[in-house]
Amino acid sequence: MSERILIVGGGTAGSVLANNLSDRLAGEIDAGEVEVTLVNDTEDHVYKPTWLYVPFGEKTPADARRPLSDLIDRRVDLEIDRVTAVDTDAKRVSFERKDEELAYDHLVLAMGTSVSPEETPGLAEGGHHFYNPEGATALREELASFTEGHLVLSVIGVPHMCPVAPLEFVLIADDWFRERGLRDDVEITYTYPIGRAHGIESVAEWSGPLMEDRDINVETFFNPEEVDPDEGVLHTVEGRSLEYDTLVAIPPHEGSDLVREAGLGEDGWVDVDPHTLEATNAEDVYALGDVADLPTSKAGSAAHYAAGALAKRLASVARGEQPTTRYDGKTVCFIESGRDEGTYISFDYDEEPVPKEPSRLLHWSKLGYNQSYWLTARGVL
Ligand SMILES: Cc1cc2nc3c(=O)[nH]c(=O)nc-3n(C[C@H](O)[C@H](O)[C@H](O)COP(=O)(O)OP(=O)(O)OC[C@H]3O[C@@H](n4cnc5c(N)ncnc54)[C@H](O)[C@@H]3O)c2cc1C
Repeated sequence: MSERILIVGGGTAGSVLANNLSDRLAGEIDAGEVEVTLVNDTEDHVYKPTWLYVPFGEKTPADARRPLSDLIDRRVDLEIDRVTAVDTDAKRVSFERKDEELAYDHLVLAMGTSVSPEETPGLAEGGHHFYNPEGATALREELASFTEGHLVLSVIGVPHMCPVAPLEFVLIADDWFRERGLRDDVEITYTYPIGRAHGIESVAEWSGPLMEDRDINVETFFNPEEVDPDEGVLHTVEGRSLEYDTLVAIPPHEGSDLVREAGLGEDGWVDVDPHTLEATNAEDVYALGDVADLPTSKAGSAAHYAAGALAKRLASVARGEQPTTRYDGKTVCFIESGRDEGTYISFDYDEEPVPKEPSRLLHWSKLGYNQSYWLTARGVL
């Protein structure tokens, strides 16, 4: 009987893992000793970092999509369906469309996360965001007609995908309005929930002078509890209010019901060992990427490096060997600091990042990485 590895979610984490496993275990898969199945609820793979550029007219949501069937190695069984329940005792999952359950020996959860603006009263009606295709497209229309007034970017949901994207947004917006000769008529404010401009201390220190230089107001200890769309006002838990003409929010993010119902994590993020990625509450279950409760960023690069480590571990397990590889929390983020400059940070569980001096080269490196992503997701690079 073959070892069955089932991966739920064909985003960055699941796709990189599936391709990496099919490479490492090609011989065993061909010999019928191992089966790798990847289940995703849509036909397409989505590369979310593209959405940052949609509001500024640089990209479209279609640029972020490619058929999974083009990205996933032929040795992987690709199933398009939604997993609706996980039974970790019986080691089976059930589906939305397919009646039959699927049994596994090793289950990897990689369902990512999505935004839930309705959790903050008034936000869905009064705010914009760029954290899904619809939001990014609507924001493009809003910005195209925004020629004067107060643009507020408010980080509401923490943790959220890509911790640096809100900073990138305001720094790009600053340049974008300058290029269009509108900056003197547009005030920009960035708000953050804790007592500094970013959760990562060195990024907060790096961005402080930059924001001042670029005339971007920064409000800290700012936790919106309600948006008044009619008056255009944000009200915070701290009793403060901020008027806006256009609000761009980073909405609250959702954990997964599947995770809660399977008893794998109370708040919807899977409780895992940060090094082995094994679920704390079930045998032979692993999680990686945004759905995992890891002490690092919800970033594609973290998902990518974690997938590489887990592929090595699972390949060892499938061969009956003791796994020794550990994920060290490695995460690398390119950060746009404007329309033609960028920097980058690299860190892990033990090492704090140090942002590099922004340069055109690093901006072009980010754009270059975004193109080569389609090769890295295939496991070519
Ligand atoms: C605007 C923006 C900019 C970003 N920029 C960067 C960046 O510059 N650098 C960086 O490293 N990261 C960035 N990120 C974060 C990055 O996109 C995510 O961290 C990454 O996508 C996480 O990968 P994942 O595989 O865990 O989840 P996802 O990519 O979200 O994939 C999850 C997959 O699971 C599927 N799925 C969900 N539930 C089920 C189910 N029940 N059954 C079957 N399939 C299911 C989903 O449809 C999806 O295909 C950005 C994110 C955003 C929103």
